[in-house]
Amino acid sequence: MVAGKIIDLHVHSNFSDGKLAPDALAARAKFNNVSVMAVTDHDTLEGVDANAAACRDNGVEFIPGVEISTRFDNKETHILSLFVDPASAARPRLEELRNARAVRMTKMLERLGKFNMILTFDDLPYDGGAVGRPHLARAMVEKGYVKNVSEAFGRYLYDDGPVYMPKLQLSVKEGIDLARSLGGVPILAHPGPSGLLPHLDEIMAMGMDGVECYHPKHGGETIAKLLRFCREKNLLVSGGSDFHAPGETPDIGSQKVPYDVLEPLRLHAAGAL
Ligand code: AMP
Ligand code: ZN
Ligand code: FE
Ligand code: FE
Repeated sequence: MVAGKIIDLHVHSNFSDGKLAPDALAARAKFNNVSVMAVTDHDTLEGVDANAAACRDNGVEFIPGVEISTRFDNKETHILSLFVDPASAARPRLEELRNARAVRMTKMLERLGKFNMILTFDDLPYDGGAVGRPHLARAMVEKGYVKNVSEAFGRYLYDDGPVYMPKLQLSVKEGIDLARSLGGVPILAHPGPSGLLPHLDEIMAMGMDGVECYHPKHGGETIAKLLRFCREKNLLVSGGSDFHAPGETPDIGSQKVPYDVLEPLRLHAAGAL
């Protein structure tokens, strides 16, 4: 029965700040009985071919996607673009965001040096793709500068913290346009932890097609509220685990997402809805 199939529409690989390479990621999805997985790395599609191949080899249906960093009202606002076309002419615009992340990381490494924590780009557990604060946090742990990733964020890397540098971020409108230009369906990611629940009407009116209602950081009440919102406004519903690394974040497939959200997303991406 399809109704029982496990889907996960928000997963990170090591082409951004996830820890698992495509083969390990797809094998873990298979092990967890996940039938359909969208890999949505931050600000890059560099991993799309490798992730597609690994999913194929493991019998997991693959949905190409990306999580685009934007800014709204000085809040980091993530937009998932699901069912993107890897051959899209808009890809160079996306990769500008990835390239800007490398420049930003160089500046954060400099700032860290002011605290006598000396790290270079080569010290980062970075395998290509989009580099981010989690890479830096893991390198700080590795060097013994902090006990764990939480301490790295809690003392140095938090938003506007002493080592933090802002990323190049699009406006929400630009992010939605890019998500669509890539051929994907723009979905507002995890509005709860982004602090965006009070701004839903305004953000959705900018042209978003759906909301990630199911997310580990959304309690039951938030999920119910978001589902009601989507029903009233005729918006698409999505959901996923936001898996980054075993033991660090909820596992692939661990977020309950009803299988029947998938077909409307798929049809919408195909232009049939
Ligand atoms: P960046 O995209 O480089 O700004 O890094 C943001 C990422 O860091 C988020 O997507 C989370 O995965 C991770 N992150 C943010 N805050 C924390 C935290 N307090 N502890 C661990 N990871 C965090
Ligand atoms: Zn991430
Ligand atoms: Fe996110
Ligand atoms: Fe994410």
